[in-house]
Amino acid sequence: MKESPQTRKLEQILRSSKLVAGGFMGDDSRSFNEVIYADASQVSKLGYTMEEIAARMQEITDTAKTGLGNWIKVDDKLQAVADEAKGSLICPWPHSGRYVKRITTVQRYNSGETIRWSELNIHLIAEHGFFEGRGAAFRIEPVKLINVIF
Ligand SMILES: [Zn+2]
Repeated sequence: MKESPQTRKLEQILRSSKLVAGGFMGDDSRSFNEVIYADASQVSKLGYTMEEIAARMQEITDTAKTGLGNWIKVDDKLQAVADEAKGSLICPWPHSGRYVKRITTVQRYNSGETIRWSELNIHLIAEHGFFEGRGAAFRIEPVKLINVIF
């Protein structure tokens, strides 16, 4: 399949370190469309939608923010902490929008398992179905994410 110039340009942006150190694709050799497709099929296999996942992440981040840097109980299953936001990140897709550079870390009480994300991750999942490439600093494994937050 022939790639459009826009797709090729986006692929380059995602692989460069211009927006985030190490880029959004890590050392993943797949195209970003292949990454998106593979993750979408995992998410739907587990019976979730990107909207549900992003909404749950946002809910956890909003709760974590109230802890002002301290761990806070989200519900019976989870605790979370949000660090101080320093600066902002921009989405690599061609549209305007800045996302606060705040990291939310979530931990499940029963398993001790943790997962973390930035506010840009929430946007990338909600709007672009993109969990980032393997090896990227903020790659989120959809199966692990679902197991932790639901
Ligand atoms: Zn975007």
